[in-house]
Amino acid sequence: MRYVFLDLDNTLTDRKATVSAYAEYFFTEYNDSLDPDVSKEYLKEAFNGLDRGGYETHEVRSQLISELGIWKCTVSADELSKHWQSWVPNNSLPMIGLYQCLTELIEMSFKLCLVSNGQSKNQREKIKKLALDEYFEKIVISEEVGFKKPDIQIFQKALCEMGCNADEAFFVGDHPLNDYMGSIEAGLFGIWYEGAHQWPDDYPKPVSIKTLNELCPLVRNLTI
Ligand SMILES: [Mg+2]
Repeated sequence: MRYVFLDLDNTLTDRKATVSAYAEYFFTEYNDSLDPDVSKEYLKEAFNGLDRGGYETHEVRSQLISELGIWKCTVSADELSKHWQSWVPNNSLPMIGLYQCLTELIEMSFKLCLVSNGQSKNQREKIKKLALDEYFEKIVISEEVGFKKPDIQIFQKALCEMGCNADEAFFVGDHPLNDYMGSIEAGLFGIWYEGAHQWPDDYPKPVSIKTLNELCPLVRNLTI
C-alpha cells in the first residue's frame, strides 16, 4: 500500500465545529434582524440540527432557518441560502490532529489524494481555507468530474489521476455507503471514520478509526 485517498467533509473538516463557527458569524451579521432573546448557543444547536451533518439540501435547510422563531425581521430563504454557501466554507475548521496526520502519512511515503462529493466552488474554498493543496497530489471533486461517490467511476477517475491500482490504496471516509462501500466496490481498502453516521445494522462493522490520530498507526500495521 503506497496511497491514501481521503474524503473531505467530516473526515478532514469538522463539520459540526464549522457550522458552529458559522452560527457565531451569522449571529453578528444578522444581529439587527434577530429577536434579542436569541443566543449564539441556540443558533449553533439549531443550525447543526438542520444541517444534518452536511446532508440537507440548501433549499430545505434555508427554508427551515427562515421559519425558525429567531427573527425580528424576516429574511428570505434565498438570501439565507446564498449567505450559508458564501460563509460556511469560509469558516471551515479542521478535524483534531489533521495536519499532524497528513504530515506523518507523507513522511511514511504515502501519496495522498482527496476525493469529495460537492460543488467545486464550495469544496475548493474549504481546501484553500485549510491549506490542504500542499498535502495532496490530486484533488477530485464530484462536480468537476461528473460522478459522485458511491459511483465507482469517481474512484476509478481518482486512481487514474494518481497512476495507481486499486489494491495499492486505502480510502478513508465517514459515510458508510458513499465512502466505505463505494471504495471497496472499486477495489480499494476501505477504512471507516466513525462519528458522523451510524453504521447500517445489516452489514458487519469494518476496520475503522474514531480520530485522525488513529490513522497512521492503523495504516502502518496494515501495510507491514
Ligand atoms: Mg464526508
